[in-house]
Amino acid sequence: MSQLVTPHGKEKVLKPLLLEGEELTEAKKKAATLKKIPLTSRETGDAIMMGIGGFTPLEGFMSHDDWKGSVVDMAMTDGTFWPIPVTLSASKDQADAIGSGEEVALVDEETGEFMAIMTVAEKYTIDKVLECKEVFKTDDMEHPGVAVVMAQKEVNLAGPIKVLSELNFPTEFAGIYQRPADARAIFEEKGWNTVAALQLRNPMHQSHAYLAKVAIEVTDGVYIHQLLGALKPGDIPADTRVKCIDALVQNYFRPERVVQGGYPLDMRYAGPREALLHALFRQNYGCSHLIVGRDHAGVGDYYGPFDAHKIFDEIPMGALLTQALKMDWTFHCYQCGEMASMKTCPHSEKAVLDDDGNYVSGGRLLLSGTALRKMLSEEKPVPAEFSKPEVVAILREFYAGLEEKVEVKLHGAATGDVKK
Ligand SMILES: [Zn+2]
Repeated sequence: MSQLVTPHGKEKVLKPLLLEGEELTEAKKKAATLKKIPLTSRETGDAIMMGIGGFTPLEGFMSHDDWKGSVVDMAMTDGTFWPIPVTLSASKDQADAIGSGEEVALVDEETGEFMAIMTVAEKYTIDKVLECKEVFKTDDMEHPGVAVVMAQKEVNLAGPIKVLSELNFPTEFAGIYQRPADARAIFEEKGWNTVAALQLRNPMHQSHAYLAKVAIEVTDGVYIHQLLGALKPGDIPADTRVKCIDALVQNYFRPERVVQGGYPLDMRYAGPREALLHALFRQNYGCSHLIVGRDHAGVGDYYGPFDAHKIFDEIPMGALLTQALKMDWTFHCYQCGEMASMKTCPHSEKAVLDDDGNYVSGGRLLLSGTALRKMLSEEKPVPAEFSKPEVVAILREFYAGLEEKVEVKLHGAATGDVKK
C-alpha cells in the first residue's frame, strides 16, 4: 500500500482527463467538425496538466464563481483549495457564436493541434485588474504574468473538457516528461514514502545541489522537477538543463536517491500564489514536500524574498498535504569552508575573486546570472564552489553554440544572403 501523499481534492484520486485508444480516435474525428477556439501557450499548458491529472481534481476550465473564489479566497465553490485561477478566454464574436451546452474544439494556437473538446457550460466576463491585484499583487503591465492576463480576450468560457493531446512533450522530452501516475509508480517502486520536489527552471548549480541534498537528508528522495513549458527569453532550454542535472547526479549524488522529471506548464511568475500552485500539483505527483527557496516563482522585485514561505502559514490547515521545505538563500562560503545559507553563515562579506576565478578575500560566493554568463562567454574559469566543472563544460558548449548561430545570422545579413 502506497504511503505517498494522496492526490489533491476530496476524492483523493488522480483524475486524468486525457482520452485513450478508441475514445481518443473518435474524439479527434469529432473535434475536426466542431467550432475551433484557439488556446494560448498558458491555456495549452493548463489543458495538458488537466489531461495528465496534474491539476486534479479540476474537470475543466473554471466557471465564474470558481474563478472568483480562486482569485479572492483561494478556494472553489465546493471548498477545494485552488490558489490561481485556471481559465480560458475567447473573443466576443467567438463566444457569441457558441450555444449553451455546445461542444467546441480547443486548438493550440502555436501548433494547430487539437488539444481538447470542451462542453461550454458558461460564458462570463471578469475583472482582470482584480485578478491581477489578488494573484500577482500588482497590475503593473511590466509583470509578465499580468501582461498575459491583461491580454486575455473579452469572454471566459467554462466547462468540462476531454483532453486529446499532450503536444510533443512525451517525444521531445522522452525520459523526462512524466504524468503524475508515472512519477508515483517510480516512487512506489523505490519504496519511497516521502519525496521532496525541487522545482527548477535554471541550470543546476551548487546552491541547488545543496538544497537537493538537504532535502534528501530529511526525506526518502528528491524529485528534480523541471519546467518544460515556456520561459522568459534568454533562459536556458530544458535539454541543456537536463544534461547539467545528469552530470551532477552521476558524479555527486547517490543516484538511487534522485528522480528527474518534467512538467508542461508555463511560468506565471506569481511568486507566493504560484508557490502554492507548485505545491498543489506536486501533491498530485506524490511529493510530500516542495523545496521553497528565496523568491520562489518571483520576477523582478514584486515579492519579498520570503513571501512564498509565509503564505504556507496563512492558508487553512489541511488545504494542502504537500508541505513547504523552506530554505533560505544558499551559497558556498569561503570562511565557513562549506555550503551555507543566510540562516547559517555569519560572514556577511561577499567573496572577491580574481580574473581566473581564484579566491582573494571575503566569505559568501554570490554570482549573478549576468556575472556567470560573462565568465562563460569570455572563457573565464568558474569556481568549482559555485558550479561543478562538468556543469560548466555543458553550459560553455551551449553558449558557444549560441554564438555560432548569432555569427551565422550576422554573416548572412551582411552579405545580403538571407534565406527566407
Ligand atoms: Zn560563512
